[in-house]
Amino acid sequence: MLKTLITGSLPKPPWLSDPTVQLFAPWVVPAERLCEAQDDAVRLAIEDQEAAGLDIVTDGEQRRRHYIWGFVSGLTGIDTEHLGKKVTRGGRYTNRLTPVARIVGDIARQKQILVEGLQYAKTLTTRPIKVTLPGPMTIVDSLQDDFYGQSESALAMRFATMLNAEARDLAAAGAAVIQFDEPCFNIYLDKVAEWGITTLNRCIEGVTATTAVHICYGYGVPAAMTWKSQNKDWGQYATTLPLLAKSPVKQVSIECAGSGVDVSVVEAIRGKDVLLGVIDVGSNEVESPDLVAQRIRKALPHVDPEHLYATTDCGLVPRPRDVARGKMQALAKGAAIVREGLR
Ligand code: ZN
Repeated sequence: MLKTLITGSLPKPPWLSDPTVQLFAPWVVPAERLCEAQDDAVRLAIEDQEAAGLDIVTDGEQRRRHYIWGFVSGLTGIDTEHLGKKVTRGGRYTNRLTPVARIVGDIARQKQILVEGLQYAKTLTTRPIKVTLPGPMTIVDSLQDDFYGQSESALAMRFATMLNAEARDLAAAGAAVIQFDEPCFNIYLDKVAEWGITTLNRCIEGVTATTAVHICYGYGVPAAMTWKSQNKDWGQYATTLPLLAKSPVKQVSIECAGSGVDVSVVEAIRGKDVLLGVIDVGSNEVESPDLVAQRIRKALPHVDPEHLYATTDCGLVPRPRDVARGKMQALAKGAAIVREGLR
């Protein structure tokens, strides 16, 4: 009851990637030592989660420069060096052109992409491991297509097929949870109804691990924070969650700490697990365990405790490492307070 876990990413050590860059930080380790350095960083990421007392762990996404690239750079036909430019996320967080990887040839998954990393993580911990993959809609929104000229939905289905193959392999290799990150499900509400749920369902088809989808209001970076501070309409989940209710996906991760979302919205997915964001990832202020407990309790009238998990709003990658550690500890302690009260 009330298990705890993070959304996915943790900040990287400064000897692995440039700590002055919040997203897409370049590696600072020479290529020939990168893999070993990433192994060490994963070891620390798992240690920190275990020390905090989290029940389910991730590799802290220490092997990827960015959550989309961690998967797509393992495919053929993707160029992550000669970038294109595009307005992404519907221009919500910035209407400026953002550098994006490009589709430059036929996309294929010729090898397993994250399985070896999972196998290594499994040697470090006996706790259940969650692996995160980008969702098809968010992938398509984050790429420039210079090859197919297809509709977004057709492109998304291409990626969904490859994500499904990867997810099946990850499940076979012992991933307890496989999560698809779909922040775009909070933006393109019409597309979610038209084809987003269909492509998500394609991703999880036949996957034997627990499946999850993470939907948030972006990383805790300045552009998203500015938007959040001015936003008045928090009704997006009220549209997407009833659509997700019909999907076989088992768990839904939503942002509640740093947003103005009314938590009663989770009633739309009764029966599924709710991964409730109770840690604000946009601030360096570490929550007190009591505040975390308060945020969890707010959800209790709307979701059965056995279906409630406490998590972070989004990835912790833009935060300093000591802040990330503090927030993970607060998460575990806050959940423990509520658990105690329920006994
Ligand atoms: Zn997120």
